[in-house]
Amino acid sequence: MAPVDVLVKRRTETYSKGPQMETEATERRYKEWQERWRNYRGWTTNFVVNVRKWAESGFGNFDYFAMQAMTGHGVFGVYLKKIGKAKQGVCWFCSDRDAVKHTMFEYAVFREHTQMAKEKCEERLTVENIGKIIVRSEGDWSAVTNMLRSIMKKKKEEERRRERGGEQAEGRGRDRGKRREGN
Ligand SMILES: [Zn+2]
Repeated sequence: MAPVDVLVKRRTETYSKGPQMETEATERRYKEWQERWRNYRGWTTNFVVNVRKWAESGFGNFDYFAMQAMTGHGVFGVYLKKIGKAKQGVCWFCSDRDAVKHTMFEYAVFREHTQMAKEKCEERLTVENIGKIIVRSEGDWSAVTNMLRSIMKKKKEEERRRERGGEQAEGRGRDRGKRREGN
């Protein structure tokens, strides 16, 4: 089960329609949803802690780049290896295992972005607190999503740079670099 896309869809709907009328059915649906979510072990659970809060916070939307960070489907060594785009799932900068956690919270090269988010949210973002902080206020929402977006953009640039330079380019088609990224 991958409830991530359902959550995203639901959130987009709520955002465009505004808060909906409270009904028992809605209440019940959220309860069931939360139950199912509790059994889900994906990376996104770090961002979506309470499904209702997430769906109804309505602070704004997120784009393609922020979405990569939330789902883990993006320029992360571990993911690139999984889909056959890289031989090893390691970090380009320090050779550690490059999962989302490493990219978002451990890369020294992104300190500029994590520091900016820390100042805006008034605390350092961690895997443990990011889910709470992102739905705390509109300012927190944009500070977190801006951080995710900036980091992912930099990683994408680095990926392109490496492809051009021939590093880490093993097994990849030449046309891939030209692929457009829509929202
Ligand atoms: Zn690293």
